[in-house]
Amino acid sequence: MIIKTAEFVVSNSDVNKCPETTLPEYAFIGRSNVGKSSLINAITNRKSLAKTSGRPGKTQLINHFLINKEWYLVDLPGYGYAKVSKGTKKKFQSFITKYFEKRIQLINAFVLVDVRHEPQKIDMDFMSWLGEKQLPFSIVFTKADKLKPKPLNENINNYLSIMRETWAELPNYFVTSSSSGQGTGELLNYIQDTNDEIERLKKEQNPFQP
Ligand code: GDP
Repeated sequence: MIIKTAEFVVSNSDVNKCPETTLPEYAFIGRSNVGKSSLINAITNRKSLAKTSGRPGKTQLINHFLINKEWYLVDLPGYGYAKVSKGTKKKFQSFITKYFEKRIQLINAFVLVDVRHEPQKIDMDFMSWLGEKQLPFSIVFTKADKLKPKPLNENINNYLSIMRETWAELPNYFVTSSSSGQGTGELLNYIQDTNDEIERLKKEQNPFQP
């Protein structure tokens, strides 16, 4: 997929104020500092579409970006930042939960995890919750450039084998680096293929629609 346009549309903390649209939507979420802003900038080929975090926990809003006027990229707040208060955490959880429960045009959530780390409870819990809600997601390993090929593969295999203990079927996954661009093409191809499939199904269901 070639990114022709990437426009910021709106930020808010209320799912009811998210853009009224039927365009497919893809959300990006993960722990603060996982490399989410960098990845969003890398895949959209923009230097600062998403703000990279000088101050973790700062971007606590649902941010909608319209890509190629065809789909929405949604930058969700980073979770698990220790320094926000319990009250803030609760508020955060409730509006993110509502986002996932209500946003029917959400096609897939990309759950970002730092490939250098062992599986973290907060990510595992979040993925389990998505699974319970039957919300499709993919794992996106970030910062692949920080490891040599052997430890990189070992970490990924370790992560997947721990996932296998609780999941009958593994989600698909991407290995990415915002620094080298690794995996960004695959991620965009996946979005393109999914969008094409949605279009195909729409036509099949409604062949007389233009
Ligand atoms: P966010 O809080 O999840 O949005 O994370 P950021 O995108 O702000 O990244 C957090 C830190 O990790 C920054 O210092 C980035 O420069 C660094 N970083 C992010 N992605 C990569 C990557 O792919 N490779 C390397 N080497 N550093 C990265």
